[in-house]
Amino acid sequence: MRRMFRWLIGLLLLAAVAAGVVYVVAGRGAPPQIVITKPDRAIGQSGSLEVSVEAPNARVTALAIALEQNGKSTPLFSLDNAGPATVTQTDRNHLQISRAIGKQTIPELQSGAARIVVTATRPSLLNLRKLSSAASRDIRVRLEPPRIAVVSTHHYVNHGGSEIVVYRATPPDVASGVRVGDVEYPGFPLNDPSLKAAFFALLWDQDLHTPVQAFARDEAGNEAKATFVDNVFEKPFKASRIELDDRFLNRVVPEILEHSPELKMAAPPQGGDMLPAFLKINGDLRRINAEQIAAFAAKTSPTRLWQGPFVQLGNSKVEAHFADHRTYFYGGKEVDRQVHLGFDLAVTTRIAVVAANAGTVLNASWLGIFGNCVVIDHGMGVQSLYGHLSSFDVKVGDRVERGQTIGRSGMTGLAGGDHLHFTMLVGGRMVTPVEWWDPHWITDRVERKLKEAE
Ligand SMILES: [Zn+2]
Repeated sequence: MRRMFRWLIGLLLLAAVAAGVVYVVAGRGAPPQIVITKPDRAIGQSGSLEVSVEAPNARVTALAIALEQNGKSTPLFSLDNAGPATVTQTDRNHLQISRAIGKQTIPELQSGAARIVVTATRPSLLNLRKLSSAASRDIRVRLEPPRIAVVSTHHYVNHGGSEIVVYRATPPDVASGVRVGDVEYPGFPLNDPSLKAAFFALLWDQDLHTPVQAFARDEAGNEAKATFVDNVFEKPFKASRIELDDRFLNRVVPEILEHSPELKMAAPPQGGDMLPAFLKINGDLRRINAEQIAAFAAKTSPTRLWQGPFVQLGNSKVEAHFADHRTYFYGGKEVDRQVHLGFDLAVTTRIAVVAANAGTVLNASWLGIFGNCVVIDHGMGVQSLYGHLSSFDVKVGDRVERGQTIGRSGMTGLAGGDHLHFTMLVGGRMVTPVEWWDPHWITDRVERKLKEAE
């Protein structure tokens, strides 16, 4: 009898240990993984919540999202009551929850600090235990919209040209600038941090009626806008005809292809058909180069580095204008159409090319169709470009003065003869240099506005 009792105790102990092991093993499964994608830092009149919850090899059985502010908790979502949220189940174990969480949808929201809290639960192996996890994010609620007031006067915009506006944006930490259609140009602070100036452009391929607005936008997405342009002027663009011949194609195509591995194209053999490669260079490479040039805008100095009108290559003959609409012919047949976004200026071969104004060299190397190319940053998003050079006299990072020699003209890249291809850039986009060469425009349109704001 006693032996049997002992045996029973032993069995019970064994069972208890086994149950304990199962319980521990079951608890070692991973709890749900919670990722709060939005809001990032702040919400305002509007805002969005995006949470993803993933439970590998299990189902999420409980999920609750709440917003905590000033000791109160506002439920935003639960599995039993989804409310206005959208739930997307990408697979059995993966839920994505999204909903609006601005003041418009949560009227009790107050300006100030708040916290998003998410808890999620899944059952363990054999449903023995519950595995839970929690995540939270501290955010800011900004309900007061930013303000913007235009300070400068007389704003006229030429199609394909540039303009500047001076404005006050508050509070000083808001992102601000000018939006032309879907293109944004950032503003840069003047002496007073809430006073800013933004250069912008109405691009040659934007409609004359494209809306132009100064804007101030805070981290919560609240935005203030102001219109200020007095008038927009049409500038008819010229049409020109380019005759391609084998001599030209044989000279430029192999050299450009050699410098452009991104086109993934080998040069045709000597005497082969160069036209398909030329068309790829004239189209695809031109587009790639425009994107490379646009990326220089991010490297601009926040302060103005230049003074006075920009200088044009002395005594030069204008061979092509900004935004000439070119039609290309080969063997008497039309083969391509492109828009020429710069001025072609010719003097004599290997003439000294000078910096149009003071600034910092951002590029002094081969740049696709522009061959050997210098780009100078003049600050506040204004830059100048010099193409087809035969040699360089500057390197990246050099500070240059207005009129300083930066290289010699040439015919590298897509150039029919020795000339300088020159263009101005605003926010990385090509704009006509005619205005920047004009002392009256510089004084009246740019320097007057900056002076009046002082
Ligand atoms: Zn050109």
